[in-house]
Amino acid sequence: MSQQTEPNDDAVSPVETALHQLERAAGHLDLSDGMLEQLRHPTKSVEVSVPIRRDDGTVDVFSGYRVQHFEVRGPYKGGMRYHPSVSAEECTALAMLMTWKCAVMDLPFGGAKGGIVVDPATLSTREKEQLTRRFAEELREVVGPTKDIPAPDMGTDAQTVAWFMDAYSMQEGETVPGVVTGKPTVVGGTQGREEAPGRSVAIIAREALDYHDYDVDGGLYDETGLDVSSVPADGAEHGRLRDYDAPRRISNAELLELDVDVLIPAAVGNVLTADNAGRVRAGIIVEGANGPTTAAADSVFEDRAIPVVPDILANAGGVTASYFEWLQHINRRSWSREAVHEELESEMLDAWADVRSAVEERGVTWRTAAYVVALSRIGDALNARGLWP
Ligand code: GLU
Repeated sequence: MSQQTEPNDDAVSPVETALHQLERAAGHLDLSDGMLEQLRHPTKSVEVSVPIRRDDGTVDVFSGYRVQHFEVRGPYKGGMRYHPSVSAEECTALAMLMTWKCAVMDLPFGGAKGGIVVDPATLSTREKEQLTRRFAEELREVVGPTKDIPAPDMGTDAQTVAWFMDAYSMQEGETVPGVVTGKPTVVGGTQGREEAPGRSVAIIAREALDYHDYDVDGGLYDETGLDVSSVPADGAEHGRLRDYDAPRRISNAELLELDVDVLIPAAVGNVLTADNAGRVRAGIIVEGANGPTTAAADSVFEDRAIPVVPDILANAGGVTASYFEWLQHINRRSWSREAVHEELESEMLDAWADVRSAVEERGVTWRTAAYVVALSRIGDALNARGLWP
C-alpha cells in the first residue's frame, strides 16, 4: 500500500484528493488493508472515441469516458458530463464520490461517472444528439439497467439521457427505460427528479443550521424583488446567469467570501482552495457541487472550526430521486411529485441522522463522518460477499 497522501496545498489531483479523503476516514474503521486497496482502484475504466459529422459536413472526433468504481452494493450509478475539463482522472475521482454517496444514502448502487471532453455550447442540437447517440453505442457493452445506469450531470440534461436511452434501445431491439435516469417524464422519468439535488441541499442546510444553533428565522430580501423562476440555471438550454439582468452583480471570488451564515458552492469543483479558505466568512459550508473544496481548504476550515457538510450527503438528492425513477421502472408504476418529495425528505433525514451519530460518537468532521458511514456499509457488503474467485 502506498503512503497516506497529506495534501497541504492545492497542487494535488482530484484522485489524490479522493484517496486522501478515503484514507482519512478508513483510519477510523477496522477495514483490512486488502479492502482499502480494492477501494483505491476503479473496477473498470473505458475510453472511447466519439466521431460526429458537424453541421458544416466535416467530421470531428471527441474523447469519451466511463469509469466504474465499485459495485459491491449494486449496479454502477452516476452522471455523464459534457465539459472541456472531463478526463479519465476527473471521472475516476467523481466515480469514487458516487460510490460513497450511494452508500451514505444506503442506495443499492455502486459509483460511476463518465463524460465527453466538449463544451456543449459549441454544438448545435443536432450535433449534441449525434454525439450522445454515438457515445451510447460506444458504451453499450458496459451500461444497462442492471449494470451501469448513467444520468444527467454538468452540461447534460433530460433530453441528453432520452437520446442515450433511445440509441441503446434501438440496438437492443426493445425499449429499455431503465438504462438511464433523469429522463423526461413522458418516457419514464420521475416527477421531482430535476429539483431533487436542490431540495436535498436545502433539507441538509436546514438541519445543519439547526444543529449548529443558528436561528433560521431570516429570509431573502431584494428591494427590487427576486423572481426565482426567471433566474436561469447556468446551462445551455436555459441561457447563462451572466445574461440575467440583476440589480447588483458580484464576482464569484467575492461571493465565496461574503459574511453569511451558510455558503453553498453549487456549481463547479475546486472553488474553495488554500488560497481563499482563510478569507471565507461563512458560519457553515454546505457542498451543493461535487468536490467544491480542496483537501487543503478542508484542513483550513477544520482549523477554523467552520463545519463543512460534504457533497456526498448534501447533494445526494439527485441520485436518490434517480433511484426512485429506477424503482418506478421496475414496478411499472409512477409516483406523484408529492410522493417523491416526501420519500426524498425521509431518505435525507435518515442519512443525516446516521452521519450526525458518527460525528457525535467519533468527534470527527462531517466529511469524515459521512465517509465512515459509507465505508462501513461497503466494508460489511465486501465481507459478506468475499473475494472472487
Ligand atoms: N450527477 C448526479 C450526481 O452527481 C446524479 C447521478 C445520478 O442520478 O445517477 O449525484
